[in-house]
Amino acid sequence: MILTVQKSDKEILKSLEGESAVFIIACAGCAVKSNTADKQSIEYISKLLSDNNIKISEIEILGSVCAKQKTQEILSKNTNFQKAKTILFLSCGTGIQAVGSFSDKRLIAVLNSQAITVVESSYSKFCSVCGDCILSYTQGICPKTRCPKSLVNGPCGGFVNGKCEIDSSKDCAWVLIYEKLKKNNGLDKFINSFIEPK
Ligand code: SF4
Ligand code: SF4
Repeated sequence: MILTVQKSDKEILKSLEGESAVFIIACAGCAVKSNTADKQSIEYISKLLSDNNIKISEIEILGSVCAKQKTQEILSKNTNFQKAKTILFLSCGTGIQAVGSFSDKRLIAVLNSQAITVVESSYSKFCSVCGDCILSYTQGICPKTRCPKSLVNGPCGGFVNGKCEIDSSKDCAWVLIYEKLKKNNGLDKFINSFIEPK
């Protein structure tokens, strides 16, 4: 399973700057086992949001957010999810990217994925459990894992027609991030920020 820990309040609130409402997705799989998406954690985040005047349209608890097909099926029938602009995740980075693969909404990470414990699986294709999740800044796409050079502040410039120069069968992670930043009006903010190299 993926072991997760909650980010600091300061970092969570920084990634929520300018937001007035969110839809929360909590993972009842690994995150509950890490005590980061259990009842107390959900209550803690709910209070943090309410103390900072951010409304919650709904809290959806899903069995395993990374089970993309099931997650997509459930969320496609949820009108509050459909209406929401910003989604807050109490899940590992893989869960966030599962939702990001079928949604262009703004995705915010509350947790850091720290380690794979007991079960090793294809989770690592989307998340390298680096311990300091930056998905809130990269539109729910992990450049640490999905860019072969692990670049975190933009592309190397080698992509051709949106495909990676290292493996042309794969999309350049940074082209995907750029397209989502554009859709969510996040380009200016991103260009003026800096993410520490991993
Ligand atoms: S930044 Fe990437 S590797 Fe690090 S926790 Fe987030 S998804 Fe995983
Ligand atoms: S082309 Fe894109 S995904 Fe490939 S190494 Fe360069 S920045 Fe990374």
